[in-house]
Amino acid sequence: MQKELRQPKSNYEMIVIGAGAAGLMAAIQAARGNVRVLVLEHMDKPGKKLLLTGNGKCNYTNEALFKWEGQQDETVISHYYHGACPAFVLPAIKQFGITETLQFFEELGVYGIVRRGGYYPAGGQASSIRDVLLMECERLGVDIRCEIGIRAVRKAEKNFVIETKNGDYFAKKCVIATGGKSYKKTGSDGSGFLYLERLGHRIQDLVPALVPLQSELAFFKKVAGIRAEISTQIYIDDELKSCESGELQLTDYGISGICIFQMSYLASNALYKASKEKGAKEHVRVLIDFFPSMEQEELQRYLLKRFQSVFSENKSCAQALCGMFPDKLAVALLEEAGFAPAQPASLMSESQIRTFTETVKRFCVPIHATRSFEQAQVTAGGVATDEICADTMESKLISGLYVAGEMLDIDGICGGFNLQWAWSSGAVAGRHARDAIRSKK
Ligand SMILES: Cc1cc2nc3c(=O)[nH]c(=O)nc-3n(C[C@H](O)[C@H](O)[C@H](O)COP(=O)(O)OP(=O)(O)OC[C@H]3O[C@@H](n4cnc5c(N)ncnc54)[C@H](O)[C@@H]3O)c2cc1C
Repeated sequence: MQKELRQPKSNYEMIVIGAGAAGLMAAIQAARGNVRVLVLEHMDKPGKKLLLTGNGKCNYTNEALFKWEGQQDETVISHYYHGACPAFVLPAIKQFGITETLQFFEELGVYGIVRRGGYYPAGGQASSIRDVLLMECERLGVDIRCEIGIRAVRKAEKNFVIETKNGDYFAKKCVIATGGKSYKKTGSDGSGFLYLERLGHRIQDLVPALVPLQSELAFFKKVAGIRAEISTQIYIDDELKSCESGELQLTDYGISGICIFQMSYLASNALYKASKEKGAKEHVRVLIDFFPSMEQEELQRYLLKRFQSVFSENKSCAQALCGMFPDKLAVALLEEAGFAPAQPASLMSESQIRTFTETVKRFCVPIHATRSFEQAQVTAGGVATDEICADTMESKLISGLYVAGEMLDIDGICGGFNLQWAWSSGAVAGRHARDAIRSKK
């Protein structure tokens, strides 16, 4: 229950705004150094987004991060993290990377297991990650106040003043970790960006990332609900930008699935640019290979043999494809290539089979939009990283102010990289704020 504040409270040394992954980590790291920490959260409970992560199982880091330990490879990092300057993540990950993260959670009781490179709590519940963070906050005496309505964040002389509907809070150091704009129902509604903007920080354009892509092709109405193993490429203005493979989820509005999420920041940024800049074209196309296990020529020879052998006698084209594609997909692909699914397979000519093979191997999806922030796992863009010190997460504009987590202009690919960024940046912000407080004691 939140207490009524009649007098301004000034007995805290550090205030964290936002009780998500980064904010709770910052609070714990500071409180472990005997700093009196207050966390202000505007939802009714802390850590709501954590509960949704990894389909309710929480993929909290990724073993690919082991290979960066001890090295600072900027080209590798830009595969995993995006933003105006992906290398911004390196100093924080060097200070608090996967080894420190695994050790931190192990000490709190989380036994991690690895699935396809991602670490998950063995109990299979994302809530356990949130719960161990909250238990540690309680042990350390971190004060967490929920349903707080923040009106303003400002710096007055040496203190930060957090004005709320129930009174003002004061502290020498302030960490803002209010997340991005996606999945607003978890609390990340973008309101934290306004505090930073009013304090003089620049916010890079916010766009949805790790998000499904929309297309106006009628094809998708016919195949909604189908999942298929594919490989795919994304082209922006006819330039190949990225390739992925994995399970594609076909929906009535377009394409989804992890392989699409991984490329989606490219589509999102290009479409945003096109909507902003007059004259910018930024055509976004996704090419899908619906039968990646064979090269095009090989598939063509195989289909020719299959359609013209006794196997296909008295079969329609759709029937002759049974066992190669989900039924509805086979019908839709045939129609897309211009053939009636009911036409006899044995009557397909070599050139018709070539046309069909081309459709299967290079299915072109023009992308006209992404889904909204409500369906985006993360937000790309955010607080400009050139105004934040990468070694400490402290603002270069306002001393004593720290920024951590998804609200910075950093977004990672799927697989535990976003939470790792929240842990790394949160820990670094909390530790450096703690050291600054201690050195002045
Ligand atoms: C469905 C889904 C699945 C995901 N799965 C994974 C996964 O498995 N692995 C992975 O690495 N990443 C995953 N992510 C991404 C990951 O959850 C985020 O990147 C991460 O939680 C960001 O941490 P954060 O602390 O910066 O922000 P958040 O976790 O969003 O926390 C911000 C907190 O600040 C609070 N807040 C916001 N504004 C205010 C305000 N004005 N005043 C007070 N409080 C405020 C919010 O209520 C919230 O509690 C997933 C995201 C979603 C949506």
